Amino acid sequence: MAILKVARMGHPVLRAKARALDRTEIRSAPVQKLIDDMLQTMAEYHGVGLAAPQIHEGLRIFVAALDAKDEGDGDDQPLAIINPEITVVGSDVVEDWEGCLSIPDIRGRVPRAREIKVRAFDRRGDRIELHAHDFPARVIQHETDHLDGVLFFDRMTSFETLTFLDEYSRYWTKD
Ligand SMILES: [Zn+2]
Repeated sequence: MAILKVARMGHPVLRAKARALDRTEIRSAPVQKLIDDMLQTMAEYHGVGLAAPQIHEGLRIFVAALDAKDEGDGDDQPLAIINPEITVVGSDVVEDWEGCLSIPDIRGRVPRAREIKVRAFDRRGDRIELHAHDFPARVIQHETDHLDGVLFFDRMTSFETLTFLDEYSRYWTKD
């Protein structure tokens, strides 16, 4: 496995639309290695999600640790999600903090659908359907946006909450 270089905001790869993969390609050795490398890269940088365009690959793949904010029984492995298609469930929108490995040391509050369904392939090329709400739903929406060249700044309705990480810790967290 390898730790990959993460593209930072300003790199055109982050603004391009990534392409879908078919089952055969998902199961190929290069894509399986890419997924392993993405998982290792996400862990190295303490991310909760990482999309292929962030490591300079224009493919509709992301990896995510979807239990990251739950009480955490600790046995949920990060998942690879391929060709995700999101359907919003209900009309609730919630605003919460987001960060991004491609926009280091910045946080901002972003409105997202509270509840979603996702159809996708897993890393074996099998069809999966996930139902997510709150934090995992936020992560999935953030990562799927990366596959369409969208960054979390684009989703903010105001930039008043944009803050550097130090100031976030100092002024925006109560604990
Ligand atoms: Zn991101």
